[in-house]
Amino acid sequence: MTIEKDKPVVAEVSLPNIDSTISPPPEVQFMWAEIPEIVKLGDPVLRKVAPPVRHCNKETQATVKRMIEIMRKANGLGLAAPQIGISTRIFVYDAGEGDGVQVMINPVIQSRKGLQTDPPEGCLSIPGLQGVVPRAETLRVTAFDERGRSQTKRVSGLEARIIQHELDHLDGILFIDHADPDSLTWLVDDDDEGAPHAPRE
Ligand SMILES: [Zn+2]
Repeated sequence: MTIEKDKPVVAEVSLPNIDSTISPPPEVQFMWAEIPEIVKLGDPVLRKVAPPVRHCNKETQATVKRMIEIMRKANGLGLAAPQIGISTRIFVYDAGEGDGVQVMINPVIQSRKGLQTDPPEGCLSIPGLQGVVPRAETLRVTAFDERGRSQTKRVSGLEARIIQHELDHLDGILFIDHADPDSLTWLVDDDDEGAPHAPRE
């Protein structure tokens, strides 16, 4: 490594090249204007590594409450704090398996096993795009809840996929970074009903 003294100071976050290659076709542009509370691809906050939550306090609980409301409004499976413009290590999700909304603060994946490639993933910050993303099939993950209680979970399948997607958001990583490039597809409905949609997180 060399140090170049005359090098200009680089901006805090530089957007990866892939971000500029993603351009929504006219048919899905209305989706990018929906739910303005959710920041969309191109916003530098999505590419930051979020700092950990230091204290679970009323502010944390208010952020969690707001995230759950916005996730429900967007009909999403999960939502990470950077997606509402807050760079902090919190995400919420509901895998629809009857456990209700789960909150993970300062989550850490302790172990990963296996491989899953279905279903294709989408993201509320990149509306209308889906792609095939290889993910671990099972995880052991530790995190705090909104009251600061430590929890350890073993999860698999869709729940494990959502957690990996959301945890990536906390590290400035998006599903397009991991997706098979040939699998990236815009969901352009021929009619408004019955078209398949990837889970959106
Ligand atoms: Zn996402």
